[in-house]
Amino acid sequence: MASQIPAASAGLGTTDMARSVIFFSSILAITALLALLYAFSLSWLLLVVLSATTLLILYLLFHPRNQWLVANRSRVDGAGCVALTFDDGPDPVDTPKLLDLLREKDVKATFFVVGKRADQYPEIVRRAWTEGHLIANHTWSHYSLFCFLMPGRLRAEIDRCTESIRRTCGSRPRFFRSPVGLRHPLLAPYLEDAGLEYVSWTIRTRDTLTANSSILARRILKAASGDIILLHDHLPGGADAMLEVLPRVIDELRERGFEFVLAGPREDTGGTLQSAACESAP
Ligand SMILES: [Zn+2]
Repeated sequence: MASQIPAASAGLGTTDMARSVIFFSSILAITALLALLYAFSLSWLLLVVLSATTLLILYLLFHPRNQWLVANRSRVDGAGCVALTFDDGPDPVDTPKLLDLLREKDVKATFFVVGKRADQYPEIVRRAWTEGHLIANHTWSHYSLFCFLMPGRLRAEIDRCTESIRRTCGSRPRFFRSPVGLRHPLLAPYLEDAGLEYVSWTIRTRDTLTANSSILARRILKAASGDIILLHDHLPGGADAMLEVLPRVIDELRERGFEFVLAGPREDTGGTLQSAACESAP
């Protein structure tokens, strides 16, 4: 059933931004105040406890594979399997090139799409889906302070992207990844309500930070059995380095005996689930 999305909370208004900034600033201000109070009174022990608590909160919110706030899969099943995942698309230029490349190499991948971009380029998402790739939820707007979203906006970010994918592909996504892998204290219950499972990664190529194809290749080729590899098909400067390096990286991983699988099962047109696991061993 289609989700009801509160339009007022789903927009990208300055009010939402202001709320998140206020929330973030408040936490920092309280922490700084407490630290000052304890530092200039008697107890260094309390300061240590406060610092440890702050570090723990940061770990819980920012570490991509921690299981405390939301259970997540960061590996795929099956000996010799690896999963290529592409975030932030669709991109009108680079995603079609990537789909051509994947088709040529007969590789299936997982696309974590941004809902508003999927709405803008539905034909690209539909093409990826019909060519056998898995389409997953990467929020509606890819809000960078995701971990500080207000509850209504958080739910809208999830539901609105799900609805965009359902409209385009004809079936609801089963998997979710947040922007930059950030967590939110309410993410677990909201994902459960939306029937989504969180997918993390084990190899971060940092392709958002480098356009050097040799560095990128080296990072991808570190893959071991079960790894989920994080790449991007939409980048501000273009995804040329990734597109250049991917064919030979795919060939080399195959020569080592690896098989490329989806990050999770996908539904076929009859509504049954196709397994993501593979059988071969390297
Ligand atoms: Zn992203």
